[in-house]
Amino acid sequence: MDTVPAIRLAGLRKSFGPVTAVDGIDLEIADGEFFAMLGPSGSGKTTVLRMIAGFEQPTAGAVELAGADVTRSAPFQRDVTTVFQDYALFPHLTVRQNVEYGLAVRGKGRTERRELATAALASVRMEAFADRRPTQLSGGQRQRVALARALVVKPRVLLLDEPLGALDLKLRQQMQVELKQLQRDAGITFVFVTHDQEEALTMSDRIAVFDHGRIAQIGTPTAVYEQPQTEFVAGFVGTSTVLDRSASEGVLGRSGTFMIRPERIRLTPAGEASARDERHRTGTIAEVVYLGATTKYLIDLSSGHRITASEPNAGSVRQRGDRVQITIRPEDAVPLE
Ligand code: ATP
Repeated sequence: MDTVPAIRLAGLRKSFGPVTAVDGIDLEIADGEFFAMLGPSGSGKTTVLRMIAGFEQPTAGAVELAGADVTRSAPFQRDVTTVFQDYALFPHLTVRQNVEYGLAVRGKGRTERRELATAALASVRMEAFADRRPTQLSGGQRQRVALARALVVKPRVLLLDEPLGALDLKLRQQMQVELKQLQRDAGITFVFVTHDQEEALTMSDRIAVFDHGRIAQIGTPTAVYEQPQTEFVAGFVGTSTVLDRSASEGVLGRSGTFMIRPERIRLTPAGEASARDERHRTGTIAEVVYLGATTKYLIDLSSGHRITASEPNAGSVRQRGDRVQITIRPEDAVPLE
């Protein structure tokens, strides 16, 4: 990166007694980037976020914001705002007062506070709820207010710790799109912690996949999904079939460990002619998982290996026990480390 990154982490570590929560993170997040930290529970994502915010002191390493070392600075000395999973709205204040609070702390006058809060509430479509208290709102509405409150102070960096975790699927998907739009319009750097791979794929410019306090892989959603480097990443992001050394020999006729996404495995009528370097195998459908838009099939191959394939639903769904032929293009088998 030529320009100064919004956030730079160098050799960042954090131990809690005998527990190493963060085990050496080096990372640059560009100005205006939507960056996701994705990983299973306990992989260290939240601890990294808290060290960026200043709520936690690193055991070793440095945190830089816009080129300045803030490792030893207090949270309020850093130009970052955090939105927590539980929203942390003041229950005794109205929605408007909650949003205006940060502006009042920064010494903004009454008229300016009102204008900025109105605009922030409009940006999350909550202006009609300005006079209610947080308890009179749904979870999704509280979420929006928490965002408005964070956005109104125009931070350079917004840190979000699973802010959509408490929402139902429908609302979460809607908020994912809205958050992305808000971020693009405001030009703020967003750093987002989630254990939901779909959420990370939907919203981010780049994803860091965390595993045991380290980054297993970092890249665009497409790169992380299409070209996972390790079995851990292939398994954590999306569904995949991992073929170990012996399975690769049997199924692909290649040596090494490979990963194949279910949608890349084509189910074809037995004996169908095809391109020369495609691999064909026959098998029996062992399980059918109907998912609405697609159906997932677990297929036991004659070679003794099991693979997962999926098809869009456009007509009839195949049945358990059906004999099928699978076809794999060589480029769809991704080598793993
Ligand atoms: P989750 O998705 O469940 O929030 P996470 O990836 O954010 O998980 P962290 O909260 O960063 O994980 O925790 C990483 C590790 O550090 C865990 O093993 C956790 O138990 C430990 N840990 C976190 N905070 C503390 C603390 N204050 N004292 C002791 N151990 C802690």
